[in-house]
Amino acid sequence: MGYVDEVLAKVKEKNASEPEFLQAVEEVLDSLRPVIDANEELYRKNAILERITEPDRQIMFRVPWVDDKGQVQVNRGYRVQFNNAIGPYKGGLRLHPSVNLGIIKFLGFEQIFKNSLTTLPIGGGKGGSDFDPKGKSDREIMAFCQSFMTELSKYIGADVDVPAGDIGTGAREIGFMFGQYKRIRGSFEGVLTGKGLTYGGSLARTQATGYGLLYLTNALLKDHDIDIAGKTCAVSGSGNVAIYAIEKAHHLGAKVVTCSDSTGWIYDPEGIDVELLKEVKEVKRARLTEYAAARPSAEYHAKQNGEHGVWQYKVDLALPCATQNELDLEDAKMLVANGVTSVTEGANMPTTLEATKYLQANGVLFVGGKAANAGGVATSALEMSQNSERLSWTFEEVDGKLKGIMETIYANISDAAKRYGVEGDYVAGANIAGFEKVANAMIAQGVC
Ligand code: NDP
Repeated sequence: MGYVDEVLAKVKEKNASEPEFLQAVEEVLDSLRPVIDANEELYRKNAILERITEPDRQIMFRVPWVDDKGQVQVNRGYRVQFNNAIGPYKGGLRLHPSVNLGIIKFLGFEQIFKNSLTTLPIGGGKGGSDFDPKGKSDREIMAFCQSFMTELSKYIGADVDVPAGDIGTGAREIGFMFGQYKRIRGSFEGVLTGKGLTYGGSLARTQATGYGLLYLTNALLKDHDIDIAGKTCAVSGSGNVAIYAIEKAHHLGAKVVTCSDSTGWIYDPEGIDVELLKEVKEVKRARLTEYAAARPSAEYHAKQNGEHGVWQYKVDLALPCATQNELDLEDAKMLVANGVTSVTEGANMPTTLEATKYLQANGVLFVGGKAANAGGVATSALEMSQNSERLSWTFEEVDGKLKGIMETIYANISDAAKRYGVEGDYVAGANIAGFEKVANAMIAQGVC
């Protein structure tokens, strides 16, 4: 058995109850075969694959808080510090009822490679809780965030581990957590990113993941002599990533005709009105039915199992920006039948493994989230730089750096794929480019 298969078998045995984590490890190690095969002795001797698939540590803790009725509630908190070979652990905090250790480990594992790809000095980590922020009052959210940070503060720091937002953790939650960290530790430091602009946040962080996705998509299309202007796009989700992906797609002259949330989707052949979408989602925090009610050109469809949702329409570019495993093999077949040119992932692992393989086998340009949505974490690292300098850069400065980083990421993943004989396989290219840097750093730092 080759080295990759040996390690995959061990990882499966040790983590049998964590399907998302196993899926991520399998996808990454599978695509690293060319680079592992070319350097097997070195990586095997240093147990690089065994070490990179085992977190440095995983912390689980109780989060007790009091709801508005005076009832004590208990959630479970997580922080998985996966790998700090190239910099402090960095990765978001997800607040969603579906959160469990396997999901946090999958996200933390992916984060190692994504962070490496940004060209910036950040390691991989992820955290969160099974707390559901939906329907909670501001006071309940604050009570949860303060309790969560009371425990988490023991394990993080500006040079140790710098968490950020993710699903369910936006500016409000980061603010409450930052306040509690400051109170407990007595230290005003860049310990979280995604902070408000008045206390150390970076301009353009809100836009970064969505904008970055489009900068990379544009670089990919340009490399294939395709002009993004005039293209039609399907976007899923209507959260932070989706909204700013839609906005930048429109800036670049493309037209986005769909968006979705967990209860349904919108088809708007005139193009999504992004200002209206922001009003519905960012200000009113309402459902998409409100968007449809205010926009005569839009159709609203309630989500039904087995339907293709936003992937059923004839579009040139597909941009999944909602959640994991939201684009499956049947959806991929539908997209291919409708002549899609590219699928670039704004969310983390939204495309199932079978769907990814099908898209690639059918000549669709496919870039996974690890590279395509790295703009968010890259800008978080730029926020860390600004905090360290105690300076704030302008929107244009940050946005310009983001654009440069996304173009470099595309160039690096394309080059890595070519170097290992898998030209055009940007999933392999991203994993290889991200992995090489981390593996070299691990070897240089000895057994640790
Ligand atoms: P948000 O919470 O802002 O938005 C998530 C969106 O996805 C919402 O529209 C939500 O709908 C929808 N959604 C959630 N679950 C489902 C589901 N099961 N079916 C359909 N729609 C669903 O999160 P973000 O936009 O920040 O994150 C989206 C994805 O991007 C995640 O995978 C995240 O990990 C990834 N990501 C985010 C980054 C960032 O900077 N924000 C950086 C890199 C990756 P509803 O409102 O109904 O729940």
